[in-house]
Amino acid sequence: METTNNYDCSHIAMTYTGLASLLILGDDLRRVNKHACLEGIKALQLPDGSFKSSYDGSENDMRFIYCACCVCTMLDDFSAINQATATNFIMKSLCHDGAFGQGPGHESHGGSTYCACASLQLMGRLTTTLSPKQLKRLEYWCISRQRNGFNGRPHKDDDTCYSFWVGASLKILGIFDLVDFKENENFVLSTQDIIVGGFAKWPQINPDALHSYMGVCGLALMSLHSLQPVDPTLNISERARLHMQTLHEQWAVARKHKEAVSRVRTKSGGSTLDRTHAGTVALAFAIGLGSVIIPWVFKAYFSKS
Ligand SMILES: [Zn+2]
Repeated sequence: METTNNYDCSHIAMTYTGLASLLILGDDLRRVNKHACLEGIKALQLPDGSFKSSYDGSENDMRFIYCACCVCTMLDDFSAINQATATNFIMKSLCHDGAFGQGPGHESHGGSTYCACASLQLMGRLTTTLSPKQLKRLEYWCISRQRNGFNGRPHKDDDTCYSFWVGASLKILGIFDLVDFKENENFVLSTQDIIVGGFAKWPQINPDALHSYMGVCGLALMSLHSLQPVDPTLNISERARLHMQTLHEQWAVARKHKEAVSRVRTKSGGSTLDRTHAGTVALAFAIGLGSVIIPWVFKAYFSKS
């Protein structure tokens, strides 16, 4: 892909949203430099297992672990993440009340709890890392966030975006059916701007793009208003996720083919392709030689006769 500025640093959240957008648009990711993406992700992980967002330095917390897990899922390669240290960072961020903060010692929060749950799920470690008791406490904390809509912390007002952040966490935990759909729907719709459209974080304030997107995702989790189903871990539509899985299957077939060719080459003690190439060169040489010798022989013969 062409870059506009060779000195721009990538940002892990933009890498995630860039890949998500390409999948949503049905791109085959052929033009994505996967190796560079993964090397970039690898370079952002810190010794404590967390990730910073860019090479030139930034905060490091749960948000960027989540982005790293999404990028690796989308590129079907988790080799760029030290999963043991990432899991350790996540578990150190588990608070006394059963949910997750942005990092060790931080207060539990709906956003960081979502990032932690989704990251563990994407790494396939959710139910093996959290004990049954820890899972129960996490479920209780999440379901307790619903008043009408959802809030992100105890004693805070409901906010549209948490219908996704906490709703998706409940979906990942497998207890989304405990949500009061009607109350949640009514709250999200109450934040809609009746003149310009879109959703705000609260009723009677201006809508914004983030809360409009999260509002739609929150409604989609409940399969309302004919919205496309949304994948709770990657925060893209199910349709985009299925497209991603089809790409991964194609990559797996291509990988197997490449491995099979390489096995044949090793077994035959040399390259089949090299030998084919050598044969082609020999034939070309013979034809070339023939085209010189045969006219010469004819010329010599007829000049004598
Ligand atoms: Zn919000």
